[in-house]
Amino acid sequence: MTDVVQIRKPTDPNPSSDPRTDLLGMSLADLEAFSVDVLQDKKFRGKQLFKWIYGKRITDFALMTDMSKSLRIKLQEVARISRMDERVVQRSSDGTIKFLWGLADDLQVESVLIPESKRLTLCISSQVGCPVACDFCVTGKGGFTRNLTKAEIIGQIVQAQEHSERPISNVVLMGMGEPLLNLDNVLDTMETAQVPDGFGISHRKITISTVGLIPQMEELGKRSRINLAVSLHGTTEEQRTQIMPINRKYSLAELVAAMRAYPLKHKKWITIEYIMLRGVNDTIDDAYRLAKLLHGIRSKVNLIPYNKNPFTDYERPDDRDILRFQEILIGRGFHTIVRLNRGNDIDAACGQLGGYEQERPNKRVRQRAAAFADAGEDVVEDVADAAADDLGTDD
Ligand code: SAH
Ligand code: SF4
Repeated sequence: MTDVVQIRKPTDPNPSSDPRTDLLGMSLADLEAFSVDVLQDKKFRGKQLFKWIYGKRITDFALMTDMSKSLRIKLQEVARISRMDERVVQRSSDGTIKFLWGLADDLQVESVLIPESKRLTLCISSQVGCPVACDFCVTGKGGFTRNLTKAEIIGQIVQAQEHSERPISNVVLMGMGEPLLNLDNVLDTMETAQVPDGFGISHRKITISTVGLIPQMEELGKRSRINLAVSLHGTTEEQRTQIMPINRKYSLAELVAAMRAYPLKHKKWITIEYIMLRGVNDTIDDAYRLAKLLHGIRSKVNLIPYNKNPFTDYERPDDRDILRFQEILIGRGFHTIVRLNRGNDIDAACGQLGGYEQERPNKRVRQRAAAFADAGEDVVEDVADAAADDLGTDD
């Protein structure tokens, strides 16, 4: 049974037109600078604010009792801590919770909280929509609107945590959007998520999934220790281009070379995501080709049986074919798992996040998807430009 809960009215008491500085999304260094420059107080106030915002998740300055009353009044005058609207919270029979967040400009994104025995994983979004337009993905079919701000990225962790007694132990950037197209905001917030006074989630427990944008992957390798997952999904150029138009810009051969050159830290590996589409990329030959492509790359393979969505006609392979594919890879020495379809009954599984409130996308969304599909190659060429335009928005 799926428990659908429409909870609470809009929770941000401060609309986006509020001129006060939003402290959510700020790093420890940002908050320290704010304390000195704006509050004209001591640097350590920044650390106190950091603990309240991310450690205790308090939004009301009046409750920050380790600061003087006059400072709390000043904070109320010049600053705020934003919240997203919790538009829908859906709980799956397997304990998975899907959130639909309403943003200040009325757009919507989703996150998924996945409880397991030893882990509590939060899958978060990085963009409203996605410009990469993979053929099998709901998010990609809806087109691209904008990058998420730092507040909106870390806000997903802050607000999802309110729904569990257990601390969120792992974060995966596998929700809506291509995180490497919002690299600055994603990396800044994932640094903040690691600080022990806040969430204290180790870089070992944070994974960023990318379709394989090579220049940004190189930058990621230089700037961060968080884990890399690559959506490979095909074993020949032709096959990958058919399902992922981005392959025309960054080919499979170039992507595999970039993975080989990736500066993997000690005890780290690259997770290879491989969606399994019946009759498209699920043959024995594909399994052998995949093993050959990955030869010598420290990697683990996640096979993701296709999750049905209303936009495409792909089918999931039979379990027997999935297991045969897995056995071939294991036989070649690759640690290979089949990713479970968590939250399937609430459309919370991989590739089912569209940011829609209704069960099926409406006509306007379908039209946008069709226009997007028609745009074909132009869309691919526009990906980098769209990203560059939006990377500036880190308020
Ligand atoms: N944009 C990034 C991260 C978000 S998607 C990326 O593509 O890697 C996270 C994973 O879900 C990707 O591997 C993606 O290919 C996969 N996915 C998308 N649609 C899917 C579907 N319908 N069924 C199964 N997996 C899907
Ligand atoms: Fe974007 Fe990832 Fe979906 Fe492709 S699979 S359209 S990159 S979100």
